Amino acid sequence: MAMSSSSASTSEPAGASARGRLVLVGTPIGNLGDLTPRAIEALAGADLVCCEDTRRTGRLLQHAGIRARELRVVNDHTEDRAVTDVVARIGRGEVVAVVTDAGMPGISDPGEQLVAAAAAAGHTIEVVPGPSAAVTALVASGLPAGRFAFEGFLPRKGSGRTERLAVVAGERRTVVLYEAPHRVARTLADLAAACGGDRRVVLARELTKLHEELWRGSLDGAVQRVAEVEPRGEYVLVLDGAAAPAEVTDADIVAALELERAAGASTRDAVAEVAAELHVAKRRVYALATGG
Ligand code: SAM
Repeated sequence: MAMSSSSASTSEPAGASARGRLVLVGTPIGNLGDLTPRAIEALAGADLVCCEDTRRTGRLLQHAGIRARELRVVNDHTEDRAVTDVVARIGRGEVVAVVTDAGMPGISDPGEQLVAAAAAAGHTIEVVPGPSAAVTALVASGLPAGRFAFEGFLPRKGSGRTERLAVVAGERRTVVLYEAPHRVARTLADLAAACGGDRRVVLARELTKLHEELWRGSLDGAVQRVAEVEPRGEYVLVLDGAAAPAEVTDADIVAALELERAAGASTRDAVAEVAAELHVAKRRVYALATGG
């Protein structure tokens, strides 16, 4: 449950177990003005602040005029080792805040393991929401945002990448992807090959920063664009969903049945063949085959 301003204060706890909790704190994705008052309060009140990079988070704290009690590095390589100690400290009544370099912890960033372990131990999980590049890019994209799929970073190579590209290509919802600038050209080319070059895409660059840019066009156009203008800064790719497959009409089924019959198939075999080929119910094909 979220704490009110007063209950998130730095005063000593009445009972250690009631106070101990894990607090996920969203931080700006480029514009320090996006650091919320609640985030500042949570960071100032924490006994321990877990962060990916002490220098980067140190600068953020300095900007907010906060002196953290204790900073600890928890990144992709160290999160699993930190879990036991962090959960134990929460159990002793300490407030542990988690921030990452930018955006929301746990979104293509550390945090998920700490939450899972703290929740499994029965501790309170509190969230101080802040910006996330994925949602920021999605709402600016103009592509359907009512339902969307977040894919984060694609696997870099191998069958994992090929398989994920196929999943992305067939996804009907808008897809949000993260990518490093030096890999944007490769990923756009792979997406164009998997989805077709006509698929709409929005390149959201340097969101909330001075050089924020939203480029809209087709995947082929995006490939051309990044070949002409070297990608710099941070990118989110927002990809339109796959078009719904064309609906199979009764006329399509009748035409397919005629072809099967002309080739000598029995009614039974023709029905089975057409149903499988057009992915429609046998009952529907049978009714059209027999005039029923
Ligand atoms: N946890 C973060 C969040 O909630 O957005 C994401 C962290 S992930 C390691 C970093 C990726 O997020 C970058 O490679 C880029 O794809 C995207 N990103 C972060 N900040 C961005 C910004 N200001 N503009 C565009 N993309 C950004």
